[in-house]
Amino acid sequence: MIVMKFGGTSLGNAKRIKDVAKIVGSYYKKHGDEAIVVSAMSTVTDLLIKCANLAEERNRKELDKHFLLIQNLHKKTVLDLSLKPDREKNLLQIIHSLTNNLKKLLESIMTLGDVSKRTLDLVSSYGERISIHLVSYALENFGLKAQALESSNFILTNDNFGDADPLLDQSRNKLKPNIKKLLNKKTIPVITGFIGATRDGDITTLGRGGSDFSATIVGYCLDAHEVWIWTDVDGVMTADPRIIKDAKTIKSISYNEAAELSYFGAKVLHPRTIIPAALKKIPVRIKNTFNPDFPGTLITNKLNGNGRGVKAITTIKDLALVTLQGNGMIGVPGTAAKVFTALAEENINVIFISQASSEHNISFVVKKQDGERAKKVLTEAFQLELLNKRIEKIFIEDDVAILAVVGEGMKGKPGTAGKTFSALGDKKVNIIAIAQGSSELNISIVLNESDLIKAVRSIHRAFQLGD
Ligand code: ADP
Ligand code: ASP
Ligand code: MG
Repeated sequence: MIVMKFGGTSLGNAKRIKDVAKIVGSYYKKHGDEAIVVSAMSTVTDLLIKCANLAEERNRKELDKHFLLIQNLHKKTVLDLSLKPDREKNLLQIIHSLTNNLKKLLESIMTLGDVSKRTLDLVSSYGERISIHLVSYALENFGLKAQALESSNFILTNDNFGDADPLLDQSRNKLKPNIKKLLNKKTIPVITGFIGATRDGDITTLGRGGSDFSATIVGYCLDAHEVWIWTDVDGVMTADPRIIKDAKTIKSISYNEAAELSYFGAKVLHPRTIIPAALKKIPVRIKNTFNPDFPGTLITNKLNGNGRGVKAITTIKDLALVTLQGNGMIGVPGTAAKVFTALAEENINVIFISQASSEHNISFVVKKQDGERAKKVLTEAFQLELLNKRIEKIFIEDDVAILAVVGEGMKGKPGTAGKTFSALGDKKVNIIAIAQGSSELNISIVLNESDLIKAVRSIHRAFQLGD
């Protein structure tokens, strides 16, 4: 059996949802068993988060306006699905009841004037909890039996609201028997992406873009033989196609490469998508709903070189580089441990670390919004060292970005770093910090955000990735 996931871009309106039904239906008629994972319709999660924030600010006028956008988008989509009148009426009722609950929830946020992370996850969950019904009714209209399912009943997570992690084996025990029952009844399960629930039953989300991760979690739980992630581009590309016009689709990449690309910003996959697939060696395909016959990108544990070493370039924006500087760190064990323990205790995620061999500096990169908090945490943790000048200063450079050059073929291939830095030098791009993992799978470079596009174009050209 396979798992197919459809992203928000594939569910933008009724016409697109009908296309999804066609893709699912033609596969089902040929091959049988499949489970479907769906995102919210495009823009809906953003709108939901906006509504929660407006309710917290008690901005009645804007809240009502944004809530109506959500409600009307879904209602219009139902009307455009060309369902039989009684089915249309049923579906409108379901949407009405879900949006009514959402409205009540937003009203209570408004009363409190406060939204917790837990409540924000509950609000965010409505997009997927509505879209499962749209897709399952569209499948039924296409002549298939389908059942909408909320994954919060099966996918257990920890309670890290906003970016929860699944408890895979416990989820599997809950999910597998239920889905198998449906498949035996020739019914296609249509499962919410993005969400799970804690052991106490509170809804959690897996982080923005999390439906990709849901797809491989479901694949893991069902021992699927493949997971197909349907999106709006032809597969994983040599660079973000919005930045690089001649970016090319990569035919096949390894789990390690895909994990590295997604971790370093390739939006096509949520950063943790590969973990459950790699654990069970389940191949993952990235395919385009606008071009369904195109084979897309295949992600497996196999290494397929392209002779150039480098496979793709990714970027992450909106970052801050935090540096601890001081001679007193030289030869003193435990400084790095203290830095990263203090950050971990504050739940600040570190994306990149660099320490020069002189040990004079430790630099690390965090999301821009975490920058000031990181500085504060470290100023407290190193109070004494700052006082006795073992650490001279802790400072932040804002508006930096990371560019990562990724490819397993770089291993043992001399010259990759040289070529990368020459490409940047040619364009007068200033490099702020560099790191290369010992696996030689990636070279990551911190630079000013204003240089980012120029830098990607130059490296993409230097490695002839567009050819
Ligand atoms: P979905 O709604 O299907 O989850 P997303 O918008 O989350 O779609 O992800 C797909 C988008 O990721 C593409 O439209 C593309 O603009 C962007 N993207 C960024 N980097 C890459 C890359 N290296 N390869 C493919 N797409 C990329
Ligand atoms: N709907 C969620 C989001 O917009 C999850 C996803 O699209 O994968 O982040
Ligand atoms: Mg996505």
